[in-house]
Amino acid sequence: MDARLRERYSRQILFGPIGEEGQERLRHSSATIIGCGALGSTLASLMVRAGIGRLRIVDRDFVEPSNLQRQTLFEEADAQELLPKAVAAERRLRCINSDVEVRGVVGDLTPANAEELLSDSAVLLDGTDNFEARFLINDYAVKKSVPWIYAAVVSSHGLTMPIHPGESACLACLAEDGDPAEEGSTRVNEPTCDTVGVLGTAAGVIASLEATFAIKILLGKSEPRDVRLIAFDVWTTRFQSLRVPRRQGCRACGQRQFSYLEGEAQPRLTMCGRDSVQIHERRRRLDLAALGRNLAATGNHVRQNDFLLRLEVPPYELTVFADGRAIIKGTRDPSVARSIYARYLGA
Ligand SMILES: [Zn+2]
Repeated sequence: MDARLRERYSRQILFGPIGEEGQERLRHSSATIIGCGALGSTLASLMVRAGIGRLRIVDRDFVEPSNLQRQTLFEEADAQELLPKAVAAERRLRCINSDVEVRGVVGDLTPANAEELLSDSAVLLDGTDNFEARFLINDYAVKKSVPWIYAAVVSSHGLTMPIHPGESACLACLAEDGDPAEEGSTRVNEPTCDTVGVLGTAAGVIASLEATFAIKILLGKSEPRDVRLIAFDVWTTRFQSLRVPRRQGCRACGQRQFSYLEGEAQPRLTMCGRDSVQIHERRRRLDLAALGRNLAATGNHVRQNDFLLRLEVPPYELTVFADGRAIIKGTRDPSVARSIYARYLGA
């Protein structure tokens, strides 16, 4: 390691369990963060500052003013410019540490692209906000024996647990205890950040724990037998550390049934929270410039950049991405969202 890097990471190298050898190891390691909201953005900043070699960030959403209270990578200008979170994150992270190879991917993790987006990473980090995505990550990680870290935060509390496939409990051991088909329906009414809010401080604590787990895994210093599920509430300061046993007959790590990974190649419609629906009916990329010209020529109010197009059709707001996805804000009704999508983008 040259003198510049030794100086840059000096305070981390002084920490005994990392040292210069650990720092060098981090520099040659890679991770993928799925979801760049409150957890993902703090995680990304911590991993890039710690000196990881390569970081991929996958996110399907764009920056909004209501994100700025807790999503530490973003600024007001990112929301004003309608930047996708993956693009804004990549820009900021490159400024934080130009030695790290950062790649932001604007897109939705699906069974069809899981291999492309999750391969080549030594650890996968959960920054998502839904169980559909987490079970997909868990299926991929267990199938390919890639360690990953589950994390979630809502209101003033959150939890996180590292998962060493085949050695420690997986997410299905923890969260599935019956028919996987029932799992989604039992979670519909769970509180989310869109219904009960979330504190930036809670996300900060959980993201810090998650990043520490990730660094330990990358350094080969995470012991599967020591794994605990950590839960913490920043408001009450209640802390729990629970041992989670592997469950015999677990669908994923026991029976090796990867039903989320083998699901429909591309989900066509997903709820996005905050009064929005995401539709992905097209299987091809869109020419956003041409679409923008056509919509403007017929008198629509359009804003666009290199990554997305925003169409205001009160009371709705339609955001279209180059990969053909659209997020329709202002409704939770799939049929309303579909009809708006069809009206402006074709069926
Ligand atoms: Zn399991």
